[in-house]
Amino acid sequence: MSVRGQLFILSAPSGAGKTTILKKVMANVANLYFSISHTTRAPRKGEKNGVDYHFVTVAEFQKMCENNLFLEWAEVHGNFYGTSRPAILKQLANGQDIILDIDVQGAAIIAADATIHGVSVFVAPPSLSELEKRLCSRGTDNKETIQLRLHNAVKEMDAAEKYDYLVINDDLEEAVSTLQSVIIAERSHGHRLPSGEPIQLRGNK
Ligand code: ADP
Ligand code: 5GP
Repeated sequence: MSVRGQLFILSAPSGAGKTTILKKVMANVANLYFSISHTTRAPRKGEKNGVDYHFVTVAEFQKMCENNLFLEWAEVHGNFYGTSRPAILKQLANGQDIILDIDVQGAAIIAADATIHGVSVFVAPPSLSELEKRLCSRGTDNKETIQLRLHNAVKEMDAAEKYDYLVINDDLEEAVSTLQSVIIAERSHGHRLPSGEPIQLRGNK
C-alpha cells in the first residue's frame, strides 16, 4: 500500500535554534526529508548551494514566482525565500515526509491552502535576551542584521499560538526529543510506524 507523505512546517525567530534542532532530528528520524528552499540571501560561511539552500539571483527568483513554481514565498529580513512546489508535491506523492523550515508568513500561506495538510511546529527561545545571545554567539550576522532579526522576532512570536505545536528550545536535547515525539505521534495518527512505514493489521496472524 502506498501512502502519501506528511508535511511538517517548522518556524522560529532567527537564532532560536531551529537549524541546530533540525540537524539532530534529521539524523535520528527515518524517512524525513528537509525541503531545500530557494533564497536570494548570500551564502553564509560553510553553506553549500543545493544543500542548505538553492542560492539564486533576484531575477531568477522573480522568474520562478511568475511561473508559479513556489508553494509559498516571502520576503524575510530583506531577502526572498521560497519553497519549490514541484519538488514538494513529488516527494509527498512518493510517500516521503518533508520538513519545511520557513518563516511565519510562509507558514500562514500554507495554512490557508486547503489543498495542503501540514502539521506546524513553532520553536521559541526561552527569552529575547537569550535569543540575542545566540544570534551574537553564532557569529554569522553583523550588528545591524542581528538588530533587524531581533526586532522581527517580537512580531514572529505573536504568530506562535496559530501553530499546532509549540516547543521551547531551552535545553537542546529536550527540544530535539519533543520535536521527534511530535513527528512520531503524527505518524501514529496516520496509522504509520515510528519509522514512517504504513501499519498493515489485516493479514497479521
Ligand atoms: P536558527 O536556525 O533558528 O536561526 P541556529 O540553529 O543557527 O538558529 O542557532 C543559533 C545559535 O544558538 C547557534 O550558535 C546554536 O549553536 C545555538 N543554540 C541552539 N540551540 C541552543 C540551546 N538550546 N542552548 C544554547 N544555544 C543554542
Ligand atoms: P536564514 O537566512 O537565517 O537561513 O533564514 C531566515 C528566515 O527565513 C528563517 O525564519 C527561515 O525559516 C526562513 N525561510 C527559509 N526558507 C524559507 C522559505 O522557503 N520560505 C519562507 N517563507 N521562509 C523561509
